[in-house]
Amino acid sequence: MPDAFTYLDHNATSPLRPAAFDAVVEALRAGGNPSSVHRVGRTARARVDSARRQVAALIGARPSEVVFTSGGTEANNSALAGAGRRRMLVSAVEHDSVLKAATGMEILSVQGNGIVDLGVLEKSLAASDEPALVSVMFANNETGVLQPIADVVRVAHAAGALVHCDAVQGAGKVSVDFSGLGVDYLSLSAHKFGGPAGIGALVVRGGAPFVPDRLGGGQESNRRAGTENVAGIAGFGIAATEARSGLATTEWRDHLEAALLEIAPTAQVYGAGADRLPNTTCISMPGVRAETQVMALDLAGICVSAGAACSSGKVTRSAVLLAMGVEPAEAETALRISFGWNTCFDDIERLIAAWRDLYTRVGYSDIGHAQAA
Ligand code: PLP
Repeated sequence: MPDAFTYLDHNATSPLRPAAFDAVVEALRAGGNPSSVHRVGRTARARVDSARRQVAALIGARPSEVVFTSGGTEANNSALAGAGRRRMLVSAVEHDSVLKAATGMEILSVQGNGIVDLGVLEKSLAASDEPALVSVMFANNETGVLQPIADVVRVAHAAGALVHCDAVQGAGKVSVDFSGLGVDYLSLSAHKFGGPAGIGALVVRGGAPFVPDRLGGGQESNRRAGTENVAGIAGFGIAATEARSGLATTEWRDHLEAALLEIAPTAQVYGAGADRLPNTTCISMPGVRAETQVMALDLAGICVSAGAACSSGKVTRSAVLLAMGVEPAEAETALRISFGWNTCFDDIERLIAAWRDLYTRVGYSDIGHAQAA
């Protein structure tokens, strides 16, 4: 493996921004508990308050609506439990931290382009009088497909449902407007845009019902007990400020996809017909399993993911692609490439060269076909 490497897996974890790193170190060095009344405690409290304003500013929320959590998973779990609605309707392409957060959910199918079907949502909501919670993500972690959240909110609120939006992959990449969207709950995670891992937030609209699932001290205005992770929160705040301009990488993404499709004209770009994040490409390499691609590209010094990166590191077939109607054998060949705040154009050119090299060597041979070209 070469010493220098190209990192194109920002949807898994984006490298820590230097300013966020400095903020974490400074907060760790200073120490203190934000609940203490002495000067060290007050300084820690000031760091938390400042970061709360920074995170709120990233997504157009009020600071009082931001509840710090241990990350996106906790935010999603807390939203689903805390809304207090037994009936839950969630899209088929949600992250596992939504899909596995409760049992008995109703799954909303998506169209071939990965977008939730508003007609299906409307019909499903009308099928019962029981008040519901609807959970639809802002942007998909595998395909980057953006959901029509404002429309979801309109349909759901008209039926008396509350709305949760997992914006973990959207925030810091494209504009996310909490109050403009009108959602009741929104999840964030710092490590997806250059903050530290292990810190995130659930944004709870003022006035929305919320029953905390962590009980103990009165931290986070009684919405999430436990001494605050001041260092993580400080890094989150700085990363949120730096990420406010989002990612201007649409042209690079389009250049990458055009180049890969020229190399392998039968490759598929998933969600190509939909609005997508500017940093994400999910593409099949015809005939080559994703594991093979990830390992070969790693040997060439390029870090990318196969579909969803599971916590166990095991590659499983992508439930997102299957929900979009992709054939299982084809889904096994899907690679996820994701840019971030420190990606440069050369990274993309290196990936294209390595992808070409691999496809020319093993395209169509990995799962028993003859080489196409
Ligand atoms: N939601 C989405 C869409 C994600 O992509 C992820 C992480 O991959 C999560 C939630 C979980 O976030 P965290 O890693 O902060 O728990």
